[in-house]
Amino acid sequence: MTTSVTGLGAALSTAVPAPGRPAAAIDTGRVAGLIAQLLTELGEDPTREGLIDTPDRVAAWWNAFLSPGDSATATCFTESRLSGQLVTVGGMSVWSLCEHHMLPMHLQVTAGYVPDGEVVGLSKFGRIAQCFAGRLQVQERFTRQVAEHLTGVIGREDIAVAVRGAHLCMSMRGVRMEEARTTTVHTGGRFGTDAVLSQQFLTVAAAQWGRRDG
Ligand SMILES: [Zn+2]
Repeated sequence: MTTSVTGLGAALSTAVPAPGRPAAAIDTGRVAGLIAQLLTELGEDPTREGLIDTPDRVAAWWNAFLSPGDSATATCFTESRLSGQLVTVGGMSVWSLCEHHMLPMHLQVTAGYVPDGEVVGLSKFGRIAQCFAGRLQVQERFTRQVAEHLTGVIGREDIAVAVRGAHLCMSMRGVRMEEARTTTVHTGGRFGTDAVLSQQFLTVAAAQWGRRDG
């Protein structure tokens, strides 16, 4: 179940198309050529001093953005005494690109799960988030992909992922709502049926965001 709430009344599509996979590798020379063409079309001179290296820099950035590394095989540690306890991992923040406008979105991610004899190596959560951020995205799909990946890693449905997004396409264009934040929550298993557990998770997630947003 994915729910989304967009601040300040701005609408954002909740459609979840098939996941986009980043290209395995891009032809950076060709991309640089296209960036130079774009600069020309925008009325710039790509050979002037300030822009001479820009196409190559932009192409190198695209290459790095689309190759954040794989999500890494998560390490699970056997820890039977932790069974039944809510574990949340917050404070993860990643940059992605909105696929509607190709503008950056900053995503703060909190994940929660209930261990059943095994706990997941905590550093892996951030790498999983990084992996799914490195492509053209929508926040709703990002949230679902992280949750589904974690479900596979943990081997159970008891997963919750909450994401708070600041979208430049909302703050620097269109409605120009600087303070707008979009919240998406994906819950599975017990997080969908146990209201107390779900509320505990959302309280922790909101506290994380409160510290960062002010
Ligand atoms: Zn956008």
